[in-house]
Amino acid sequence: MIDFSLDPDLERLKARTEDFIRDQVIPYEGDPREQAHGPTDELRHELMAKARDAGLLSPHVGTEYGGMGLDKRAMAVVFEAAGYSLLGPQALNCAAPDEGNMHLLEVVGTEAQKDQWLRPLAAGEIRSCFSMTEPEGAGSDPNMLETTARLDGNRWVIDGHKWFITGFDGARLNIVMARTAERIEHGQGATMFLVDNDDPAIERIRVQDTLESSFAGGHCEIRFHDLVVTPDRVLGEIGEGYKYAQVRLGPARLTHCMRWLGAARRAHDIATAYANKRKAFGKPIGEHEGVGFMLADNAMDIYTSRLAIWHTAWLLDAGDEARQESSMSKVICAEAAFRVVDRCLQILGGMGITSDTLVERLWREVRPFRIYDGPSEVHRWVIARRLLSRARKQARPE
Ligand SMILES: Cc1cc2nc3c(=O)[nH]c(=O)nc-3n(C[C@H](O)[C@H](O)[C@H](O)COP(=O)(O)OP(=O)(O)OC[C@H]3O[C@@H](n4cnc5c(N)ncnc54)[C@H](O)[C@@H]3O)c2cc1C
Repeated sequence: MIDFSLDPDLERLKARTEDFIRDQVIPYEGDPREQAHGPTDELRHELMAKARDAGLLSPHVGTEYGGMGLDKRAMAVVFEAAGYSLLGPQALNCAAPDEGNMHLLEVVGTEAQKDQWLRPLAAGEIRSCFSMTEPEGAGSDPNMLETTARLDGNRWVIDGHKWFITGFDGARLNIVMARTAERIEHGQGATMFLVDNDDPAIERIRVQDTLESSFAGGHCEIRFHDLVVTPDRVLGEIGEGYKYAQVRLGPARLTHCMRWLGAARRAHDIATAYANKRKAFGKPIGEHEGVGFMLADNAMDIYTSRLAIWHTAWLLDAGDEARQESSMSKVICAEAAFRVVDRCLQILGGMGITSDTLVERLWREVRPFRIYDGPSEVHRWVIARRLLSRARKQARPE
């Protein structure tokens, strides 16, 4: 039996987070330090200082490493509240990719690695990035990984080419996925390395100009030229990188859903207020069925997304890997959030495409979520494969 009620402590935390976002974060929207490749570190630090004072920093990290130690269901509540402003996750230090990287370090890292990287990340002192995607190699298909790490004595030497590395500019830690076997087979053969991001063997080719602009440090194309890494920088076991990628990606997909649900709700509130106020043909436009139905569809998309997030969070808290459910939630929420924001833009008429409201920006920010952390098509394909395989196993001979 799934319990959807919030206990009084969580109700209070929800209200406290909502108040914090409204009173202390939203006033910063439009600050010139929000730039084309994300908010500057100066702005982030200013916002994080406020969250620290409010006792809201790093909700997802264990208390022993300096966070609030929330479980996934509590995170769902707090992250949605944070997502109501694009600056909210930055303020609470629970934005991608740091949030997923902190989770990965907490689950897989050694105590020494946690001391070196997790503690300063949780304190908001440093940033990190995660290097997986390649222009010619790994993308939707991780088995195409071309970046290699070869042993030279007891050191690893990494060579490869990556892009879309979110947060690369300004990150202190780079978590690099490289092939340590001839080929990837049965999910084995890739290894994760914890790399100092200022190593001169890492070339920053360019910052990529993208549709959205909310991730600190933007997205970069980079190259590793004989990057030497000592054995203590291996994260987990050699060859098990893809197992750990699931540790990172499963929950990280869901936390993206939580944050973007908050953003969708923001757009919906703006559109609802406009539909109540703006008149056409003698009455508020919301009272015309065409607009009213769009608002109703928004409410249903928001409701379905929250249910999907809550059920998956509940499974994860119970120790279930919830692979199928996180895939389904990712597709449900990414597509629903975009539909909601797109309808809101339509409801606002001409003003919708201007920067007079946040909706135009949210439309640009939400769209890429249908691509990263697995495109919708790939998730559907994986879900279908699991369904077919389960049906084959259950099928009895005629
Ligand atoms: C904003 C943003 C941030 C990102 N941040 C990072 C990051 O920090 N680190 C990192 O490593 N990567 C990052 N990525 C990369 C992201 O993970 C990849 O874009 C994603 O995995 C898809 O890979 P690809 O772009 O190479 O698409 P491709 O593999 O070229 O696929 C293109 C399209 O083909 C279709 N397709 C592929 N396979 C199938 C299939 N089996 N069935 C049906 N259709 C299919 C899909 O429609 C897909 O969109 C980011 C991407 C974006 C957009």
